[in-house]
Amino acid sequence: MHFEPASRGFFDSTGALFVSSEGAVRASPTLATHAKSAEYQPPNSEAASVSLKILLIEDQHDIAANIWDFLERRGHVVDHASDGAAGLMHALRGRFDAIVLDLGLPRLDGLDLCRQLRAAGHGVPVLMLTARDTLEDKLRGFADGADDYMVKPFELKELEARLRVLHRRTQSLPGTTLALGPISFDPDAMIAKREGVAITLTRTHARILEFLMRRSPAVVSHEVLIEHLWGEPGRDVATLHNHVYALRQLVDKPFALSLIQSVHGIGYRLYAP
Ligand code: CA
Repeated sequence: MHFEPASRGFFDSTGALFVSSEGAVRASPTLATHAKSAEYQPPNSEAASVSLKILLIEDQHDIAANIWDFLERRGHVVDHASDGAAGLMHALRGRFDAIVLDLGLPRLDGLDLCRQLRAAGHGVPVLMLTARDTLEDKLRGFADGADDYMVKPFELKELEARLRVLHRRTQSLPGTTLALGPISFDPDAMIAKREGVAITLTRTHARILEFLMRRSPAVVSHEVLIEHLWGEPGRDVATLHNHVYALRQLVDKPFALSLIQSVHGIGYRLYAP
């Protein structure tokens, strides 16, 4: 099965194409609010001109159609899969700048898909969509390898902005292996090593670890870390905490000593004796 970017339709896992003429796709009630928001400005015009190749894995066709139409109108190329099994297959075979992944999918859950993708060694940025606005779901999503998430309903402009940020981050990782006390980190491979154990990280976790290592033993404030990760100061601290929590599960919890320390109400630091 192969996606034709110019076609206007959806494939399911069997390869069937659901053609949607412009008039046939109705606006999703849950996404109808996006039209009124035009406030978001991309960080710079150069970034805004970059066309991304995006894999959209979403089983609700009206939502998928809205996302697809919006992103293609913005100059991106979008492939779509309407169930988890088809989505994983395309994610593994294709080359994408980012994946927009619905959490609740038929045939293969979004979290399982993400886990299998990471287990196969794919580092493509994943932005997860979830209708379940609970902390546990988000924590699980990050631990399973998602780089960012949005809770439905969301603004399409914000979705695009976050996809651009995720993509930019993949372009800017420097290539020097860092070593600090018992931990080392290779930014290119996004692999940390501790006591001989190799730990594969998501891009977000890698960015956090690298930043804390470069600043160690200084405390990095929540605000600085948020701006470093997402290029904007306004993101909520809870999102950052979720990522750091998941990172700690990987690089600290299996070991006797915790390297990533919380400085209550201020930020984090990595302290290696
Ligand atoms: Ca769904």
